[in-house]
Amino acid sequence: MISPTFAFMIDHATIGRIIDAAEISDVVSDFVTLRKRGVNQLGLCPFHNEKTPSFTVSSAKGIFKCFGCGKGGNSVNFIMEHENLSYPEALKYLAKKYHIDIVEKEETEEQKQQKDDRESMMIVSSYAQKFFTRFLWDENEGRTIGLSYFRERSFRDDILKKFEVGFAPDGKTPFTESAQKEGYKINYLEKTGLTITRDDWQRDRFAGRVMFPIHNLAGRVIAFGGRILKEDKKAAKYINSPESDIYHKSKVLYGIFQAKREMSKTEKCYLVEGYTDVISMHQAGIENVVASSGTALTRDQIRMVKRFTSNVTIIYDGDEAGIKASLRGIDLVLEEGMNVKVLLLPQGEDPDSYAKKMGATGYLNYIQENETDFIQFKTRLLLKSTENDPIAKARLISEVIRSVSVIPDTITRSVYIKECSRLLEVNEEVLYTEVRKQKSKQNEEFRKKEFREKAKKSTQKTEIPVAKPSDFSVEELEYLRFLLKHCKAPLFEEEGENPNEIETLSVGEFMIQELETDELVSENALFQKIFYEVRDNLDNEKFDSWKHFIYHPDGEISQLATNLLSEKYVESKRWSKAGAFMEKEEDILEVLVPKIISEYKFRKIKIMQSDIEKAINIASDEKDFETVFNLLNTMTNLKKVEKELSEKLGSRTFN
Ligand SMILES: [Zn+2]
Repeated sequence: MISPTFAFMIDHATIGRIIDAAEISDVVSDFVTLRKRGVNQLGLCPFHNEKTPSFTVSSAKGIFKCFGCGKGGNSVNFIMEHENLSYPEALKYLAKKYHIDIVEKEETEEQKQQKDDRESMMIVSSYAQKFFTRFLWDENEGRTIGLSYFRERSFRDDILKKFEVGFAPDGKTPFTESAQKEGYKINYLEKTGLTITRDDWQRDRFAGRVMFPIHNLAGRVIAFGGRILKEDKKAAKYINSPESDIYHKSKVLYGIFQAKREMSKTEKCYLVEGYTDVISMHQAGIENVVASSGTALTRDQIRMVKRFTSNVTIIYDGDEAGIKASLRGIDLVLEEGMNVKVLLLPQGEDPDSYAKKMGATGYLNYIQENETDFIQFKTRLLLKSTENDPIAKARLISEVIRSVSVIPDTITRSVYIKECSRLLEVNEEVLYTEVRKQKSKQNEEFRKKEFREKAKKSTQKTEIPVAKPSDFSVEELEYLRFLLKHCKAPLFEEEGENPNEIETLSVGEFMIQELETDELVSENALFQKIFYEVRDNLDNEKFDSWKHFIYHPDGEISQLATNLLSEKYVESKRWSKAGAFMEKEEDILEVLVPKIISEYKFRKIKIMQSDIEKAINIASDEKDFETVFNLLNTMTNLKKVEKELSEKLGSRTFN
């Protein structure tokens, strides 16, 4: 069978972003009510009728699996199956749900270049961070201006080093020059915004500023914030790196890399506003803290926090007007089903000053005693300004109910309604009616949007066929499953080229070698794609075959890989008959792998034989005896191989 080619591709980075965002239980729970069961979640399968739940979601593995009907896969597969979409359509659906932009193009040379560009930009950023840090500690200018600023604010050295702060020398281009001298290309200095170039001039963006590097989740520097120290009316107090291929402001939280471990340990995240707020709280011993650095909170930022904890406390130091303005954004956090609390600091304090004053224990005590549930907080705050004004109060009720109605969980919602009813002195029933109104308004908006999209889609729908596992033989699927699952596992030890030298042959190496030497690679195009991609990556240490293929930009490949992972093929009947599955697969690879290969070859040879028989018939009808003779010769050889294989298989089955 000739595998259909894919109409278009979505680049690796984007698929990565979609997969990262599309947490399986989050995606599934739009359609299925899930309950926690041990490490997994359980619900009623949406794909077949059942009364007792057998539909399991594993957040750790990122997959779902129904033990009733056998359906399984990752979050993309779930949407494909549930919404009846093709792979790229499902990716688009998820991209929309998580507000990710996608570019539909085949990966061109240009895009490959872009990937390399991103890496180069990160390397330049890392160099810049080291340069600024060294300048802060070692150079006179850095010490007298930069370091003394931090010391005046009583930051400890160890904390400054932890956040890798620095100082950018003043002047036109001292940083740019030194970077270029070290061999960094001006192109990347410009792309990261470290250097600003106009027609006839060039300058360092951050000259004369103390530098706060911004790290991504993995701890790599992707951007900077710089604070000016000298009195300059024209210059902004803080400037940031511009948006770039590696830095998207709305997707970054300052301090997340340093906070993530503590966030999942304490199951709590504190949200503050500025860089120094984060650093001060660390210094006071509170490490589960991040900053949105001035911008309004975005969905992407919330989802990033949600990977570690569902409990967020927002720490405010502003006046009431400022707080009121930011309230709307917090509905986003509620929509994500997170528990939001609010903490107001005492008059005249900010997170930075208060952390220094109180230390960890004092601060944490204050938080515990004063943090308030967000909806209560919002209600009280708004209530203050509506006394004796019935119209303003009506507006307040609908404002508070708007926040309540976005909460996904029904029980939580009803608890809030009870509480609001008490605070607002309004009958619960009235509030329920209001929630229903708000919800149906939200649903209506969503449906309209969906309808418009669907209408648009139906006019431009292109059919993209996906290869089904039924196009493969069982033996081919078993071969691929072992190849992907156990690729790196050591299989045999061989004598090396020098005496006494032992080389280890991995499962992947052995499996590839066996088919290549015998020229028995399947003709299935999808099989070939996977086969040769594994072969070309055998020496690549970072190559993780499962991950590589499950998140493969080619939808057919990704689909096949997830089908293989979803255990459908784990228990081949032949194995259980032979009793071999009493043991764990990975413990008896040295038995199973050769068996899988022999079975694959056996099947392949059978197919070849039947092809040859057909060819012999045709040739003898045409009285082309030379061809007949050659074909018979091949047939004899194949029979010989077949006999060898069946002996091998027979003797190995009950080993
Ligand atoms: Zn099912």
